[in-house]
Amino acid sequence: MRPHPAGPRHGDLVGDGLLAAPPADLNALSSHVWPEGMRRATSGELRLHDRPVPELARSFGTPLFLLDEDDFRQRSREYAQAFDGAEVYYASKAFSSVALLRWVAEEGLGLDVATGGELAVAERAEFPMERVLFHGNNKSVDELTHAVELGVGRVVIDSTEEIRRLARCAEEAGIRQRVLVRVTVGVEAHTHEFIATAHEDQKFGFSLASGAAARAVELVLLQPSLELVGIHSHIGSQIFDTSGFEVAAHRSVELLAEVRARHGVELPELNLGGGLGIAYVHSDDPIATSDVASNLRAILERECRAYELTVPRLAVEPGRALVGPSMVTVYQVGTVKQVALDAGASRAYVSVDGGMSDNPRTALYDADYTVVVAERHSDAPPMLARVVGKHCESGDIVVRDAWLPEDVRADDLLAVAATGAYCRSMASTYNLLGRPPVVAVSASDGPRVLIRRETVADLLALDTSA
Ligand SMILES: *Cc1c(COP(=O)(O)O)cnc(C)c1O
Repeated sequence: MRPHPAGPRHGDLVGDGLLAAPPADLNALSSHVWPEGMRRATSGELRLHDRPVPELARSFGTPLFLLDEDDFRQRSREYAQAFDGAEVYYASKAFSSVALLRWVAEEGLGLDVATGGELAVAERAEFPMERVLFHGNNKSVDELTHAVELGVGRVVIDSTEEIRRLARCAEEAGIRQRVLVRVTVGVEAHTHEFIATAHEDQKFGFSLASGAAARAVELVLLQPSLELVGIHSHIGSQIFDTSGFEVAAHRSVELLAEVRARHGVELPELNLGGGLGIAYVHSDDPIATSDVASNLRAILERECRAYELTVPRLAVEPGRALVGPSMVTVYQVGTVKQVALDAGASRAYVSVDGGMSDNPRTALYDADYTVVVAERHSDAPPMLARVVGKHCESGDIVVRDAWLPEDVRADDLLAVAATGAYCRSMASTYNLLGRPPVVAVSASDGPRVLIRRETVADLLALDTSA
């Protein structure tokens, strides 16, 4: 999901010889792209914690999401340690299941939910509600009422209507609800336009520049049933440096200083949202978690010193950075078609048994992915390939530009790396293809089905035949 400026994509430049060179060894796994537990055995097959991926594919069918539990827990632990003293909320929209939310709770993290549905998974997982933060730009009265009754720790307020709605819910429940006000800090993170959320012209939060944020704070402070604990900003997704956060922190602290000057209160929390990037392809180079944490801390301390403010407690909301690298998708190849391009070049269209229904990110965001043959070693020369799905849509692309061995053929298994975030959670049932299962493996446990495969019977069950 690196930004693609106007102009041709590298895949379009193959005839001019401008495509990035193929990797030296198509069988090698780039360690920062694959889960910790994934290896290629000397026999050629991929193994996740010593369980052969082809065997898992035979047992559970394809397409299949494989989740490395240890990798996810390790990453969560790293975040908790790096952000020691701050609050880390896992953004469950990236991927949620009851078992995974139990791991999140066990690792000591908080949880970010954005709908009643996501909250229901937390409830089923018996997630400690005081560590839950409720987001969303249009939460319904039912959702708010339920959240308040469950005792969620924080609600992030996104609109003027919501201030009144939530104040009433809290009053009726006889509690004082802790809230944050979401502000739009006017930062456009370095990422694809459709997922950049902090520039002014978009639906989230209250604008700082227009004064709407200051007015929202004032209105919240007037509600006896609401306790304003801080402000929140989220500047975007798949961000590779902390400069955007620097501007966001600067402007947020400015608001905190203004709030103190106008209302005489120092708000104790500053939530800088999620958005930290991960490696989808070998050349992606995300910043280390510990560096992110120390950068954010330093920025916050410096900004607060300038205004002589007590440093608020920092909170972050990683989604992709925790679960993205922990999962892979396994597909089976059905067809391989050579298509002639200009200048005598050709491209192989490799069709797999899933597609945009289990991974909409390539179609939506022009995302990049890494793909390898999963069940065998190949010494065949590299071939430019496009891995596509089985949907009735020419934009149904899983990996736009991939180097696969020339001998890739029907029945081969392919594994796509880093599909843990926004793939299963954004999956659809387009063309009435049931959504794939999620199977977890760890060094000591599994395979364990966290989410079973959706069958045609499941899909037909919704159709009343009326
Ligand atoms: C989506 C989202 C996140 C998580 O974003 P990632 O890019 O997955 O880290 C965090 N906070 C808010 C408010 C979000 O909308």
